[in-house]
Amino acid sequence: MRYRACAELLGRYEAGEFPEDIAARYGVPAEQVVNLNSNENPYPLPESVIEAIAGAAARASRYPNPAYPELKRCIASYLGTEPECIALGAGAGELISHVCTLFIEPLDRVLIPVPTYTMYAFYSMLRDASVELLEPEEGVYPAPDSIAERADDARLVFLCSPNNPTGGVIEADEVLEIAEAAEVVVVDEAYAEFCCGSMIEHLQDAENLIVLRSFSKFFGLAGLRVGYAVASEKTAAMLEKIRNPFCVSRVAEAAAIAALREAEHFRRTAERLARERERLREGLGALPGVEVYPSWANFLLVRLLSRSADEVYTHLLKRGIIVRKVSGMPGLRGEYLRISVGTEKENSKLLTAMREVCRDA
Ligand SMILES: *Cc1c(COP(=O)(O)O)cnc(C)c1O
Repeated sequence: MRYRACAELLGRYEAGEFPEDIAARYGVPAEQVVNLNSNENPYPLPESVIEAIAGAAARASRYPNPAYPELKRCIASYLGTEPECIALGAGAGELISHVCTLFIEPLDRVLIPVPTYTMYAFYSMLRDASVELLEPEEGVYPAPDSIAERADDARLVFLCSPNNPTGGVIEADEVLEIAEAAEVVVVDEAYAEFCCGSMIEHLQDAENLIVLRSFSKFFGLAGLRVGYAVASEKTAAMLEKIRNPFCVSRVAEAAAIAALREAEHFRRTAERLARERERLREGLGALPGVEVYPSWANFLLVRLLSRSADEVYTHLLKRGIIVRKVSGMPGLRGEYLRISVGTEKENSKLLTAMREVCRDA
């Protein structure tokens, strides 16, 4: 059997380890495993969302309405935009793939400042793009003006703000400058609700801008798979046309609508997470040989100056704590972990385990 060369060559997405794997390997009961691996919302879902899921489960034998009118209306009203500007997907990850399908012809130049989310390069390469990773000259992310300089004639530029895994943000005027140079600019705002501001309010200023959003992080629905793009009406309609007609399940649709009605609840959990993030940042930053970067999201990038990421990662695993190893990611030189902000109790457990391993650096 013959497969496309790029499919043979591409590495699989590294999702990190899951609680059930750790439980078996280290004899830690699965329910005691602290999962700080995937930047999920660690707090329980509101009752109303769980009830909506249960209610939709009873109607699961029927297809959802492929136009998803109510979900789109609810998202539009949450954002203060029009339903016609919204395109849906089974998570923001799927929309990255759709954007690549819609815009990339073989050998088109795709510019990706790194370190960043790896799926931009992955789906671009699957479309036979000529991918250019722009590495930082100093700091952990390329300077915005160096991105704008290189964006000339790029078919597509992928930006992420707040950026995974660094936690940093790109200012709106900087994005607009990049959008003036490039043909299409995608801003992945999977973590926007943990931060401030959004490019959505600037969509009128730049026809070629596409904003990606997710229900997986702030709204706590990672297990259900709902995401969307916000763009010009024309681009949103094109993205809607190429997706699977039933990409969002009835259950996921009902959950997303119920979660939007609880936006205030989620805003409060985000505030709690922001306070915890700062507590973690201080606690980790005080450890010898540990450098923590400022973050506007629900995770922290941690650089280890005198230990290998492997060593610290394994120590944490033995304590039942899963974080993400990100050393070796394009754009990151050195030893790094990405740690999601968990509940108060989980973060305290992490700090204790980190103190044990970093004590005598
Ligand atoms: C988690 C994440 C996604 C994927 O979100 P889904 O909606 O779960 O597919 C997309 N982009 C970034 C930067 C992420 O961190």
